[in-house]
Amino acid sequence: MMKRKYLMLIIIASLLTAKGFAQATEIKVKAITDNIFKVWYDRSNYTTNMLVSVGEDGLLLVDTGQEEESALLKEKILEKWGQMPTLIINTHEHRDHTGGNHQFKGAMIIGHRLVRERLQGGSYAFEEFPEYSLPNILMEEEMTIHFNGEEIQMNLIPGAHDDNDITVWFKKSNIVCIGDLAYKQNFPSLSENTGTALMFPEVVDKMIELLPHEAVFVAGHYDDLNLADMLEFKKVVVETIDLVKTEFEKGKTKEEMLEMGLIDNYKHYANGYVSLDEWIETIIIAIDGIPFKKMIYDPIYRTYKTDGIDAAIKKYYDIKNNHADEYQLDYAYQVSIGIQLAQKGKHEEAIKFYHLELKEYPTSDFAYYTYFVLGNSLFELNKKKEALEAYKKGLELKPGNKTLTDKIKELEAEI
Ligand SMILES: [Zn+2]
Repeated sequence: MMKRKYLMLIIIASLLTAKGFAQATEIKVKAITDNIFKVWYDRSNYTTNMLVSVGEDGLLLVDTGQEEESALLKEKILEKWGQMPTLIINTHEHRDHTGGNHQFKGAMIIGHRLVRERLQGGSYAFEEFPEYSLPNILMEEEMTIHFNGEEIQMNLIPGAHDDNDITVWFKKSNIVCIGDLAYKQNFPSLSENTGTALMFPEVVDKMIELLPHEAVFVAGHYDDLNLADMLEFKKVVVETIDLVKTEFEKGKTKEEMLEMGLIDNYKHYANGYVSLDEWIETIIIAIDGIPFKKMIYDPIYRTYKTDGIDAAIKKYYDIKNNHADEYQLDYAYQVSIGIQLAQKGKHEEAIKFYHLELKEYPTSDFAYYTYFVLGNSLFELNKKKEALEAYKKGLELKPGNKTLTDKIKELEAEI
């Protein structure tokens, strides 16, 4: 059996936004019909899409994007339609689809039962989603509602991307929000513990069976798909899985597969969020199977809530030293806690977790990013010299990084 390095959970990657380093500065709107609009923002190598239906019943919003863009989203909705959403539908739990829920207090929120459950713990624990931002109308297999003069059908299609993905079909308009179940010309992303690469072909088949073939399929990221795009996506997934499987069974490692250019013919599918390297690794993990380990967030959060930040860090070491076989321990968990604390303005506490990350994983792929967010928190605390130092250390690890270079220039001019 080959030795594996766990692929970082996509939910953590999306929290860190290390790939879409800078957040978006503009929310865009495009009419699909008279009363249905695609709303999206662009983070250089991937877009995040939402949908708005406006009419006599009010405004319905499908997905709410990431926390970082959510104030802009609210502003745009108010500017464009002069009203807040009365109804929100979350296609699944991920924070790039639910992160803006809290901006729309008073809206009813529809989601799968598991979305509500997940947002109250695990990797979301430190975010402390307020009660009003959790789905309060919960579905299981399917649900139909009537809103703004059309029937809207929702169906659970689990197992590939996550276990709580739903499709949202606007029947009269023939538009379907498919969340992250398929992408136009991009490899899929997924949660390793609740989804698997191997299920994507089946999931596409299910959607094709269930949904009208001439519909516009609005994915959670990238461009809209038509039926041909869905079929091509499935074909690429099937072919790349076959290629990787064959080599894996011969004992080849991911590095060897990359070296031999095994799936280089499909590199036009690697322009967005998931690279060739990550897609091969995702497939290997799916074939090989990983016994699922618990995430460290819940015990650390509980300790933090009762005994404070220093006790929470002690708890981390207790897990590491005494329970390493039960928990997933890897880089990026500590920094992701820090980021969630920083988003709540708790910069002193965030900094302690950033330092923990850098002490534990000083040379990880995310170390430069940790220095970036550390710099941001130091800056917020008006410790400009220390912030500058942090940005410089980040740049040493990622020479030429534009965001870090800009930050350094900005600060040097100021100090
Ligand atoms: Zn997702």
